[in-house]
Amino acid sequence: MPSLEIKILTLFPEMFPGPLGHSLAGKALEEGKWSLDVTNIRDFAEDRHATVDDIPYGGGAGMVMKPDIVAKAIDSVQDRRPLLYMSPRGTLFNQKKSKELIEAGGFTIICGRYEGLDQRVINEYNIEEISIGDFILSGGEIAALSVIDTCIRQIDGVLSNPSTLVEESFGGGKFKNLLEYPLYTRPSVWRGHEVPEVLKSGNHKLIDQWRLQQSEGITQERRKDLWEKHLRNKEEN
Ligand code: SAH
Repeated sequence: MPSLEIKILTLFPEMFPGPLGHSLAGKALEEGKWSLDVTNIRDFAEDRHATVDDIPYGGGAGMVMKPDIVAKAIDSVQDRRPLLYMSPRGTLFNQKKSKELIEAGGFTIICGRYEGLDQRVINEYNIEEISIGDFILSGGEIAALSVIDTCIRQIDGVLSNPSTLVEESFGGGKFKNLLEYPLYTRPSVWRGHEVPEVLKSGNHKLIDQWRLQQSEGITQERRKDLWEKHLRNKEEN
């Protein structure tokens, strides 16, 4: 059985798996490490124009996805686990949330289009709204792909070297809440710029120290919010 069962409700089923059919995620999908089940919301439309949206009560720009049609699409999905709706109004998605979703063993995502869903569906099904950032996309599909990709790469056996999960930005261990340190690879001199000497020293203790210092410096400079979390975390440990 796949360790992550993902279900999608969308008006654009052909957008899936899209980029997730390639590279690590694509290979893991082929190997059955995760599964994807895509439902076309439009299949549940009732009139001959296959209408899924209508004008907003109260007026204003844009269209709203019809509650009756979306509800029928939701009802057609078995074993939904957490039911999520990608929405700029939602709780900001992050690494911690991805871990919660992985633990649930899967989830169902509704991708919005137009101005979004009728509020009554959100209330009726107790749907959790999730945002990927303070900006507006034209639909929930790209947001959903981001959430799914974040989860998949953390499934056991998807990354060839799982220790990257600990060391990278927002990872665990001493780098928790820190942004990643600078990365270098060969050649050791490129356009006259040298790789920092310490990284070539073979002294892992010094290298760890240097990386932690760099991570701290970058985080303090770029992300005051994470820096404060890091300081609190340090005090507690
Ligand atoms: N009227 C909405 C924007 C609608 S954008 C508002 O002002 O908040 C259309 C759809 O794109 C949304 O229903 C949602 O599913 C998706 N979407 C847009 N931006 C998003 C974001 N930052 N995070 C998650 N989903 C987003």
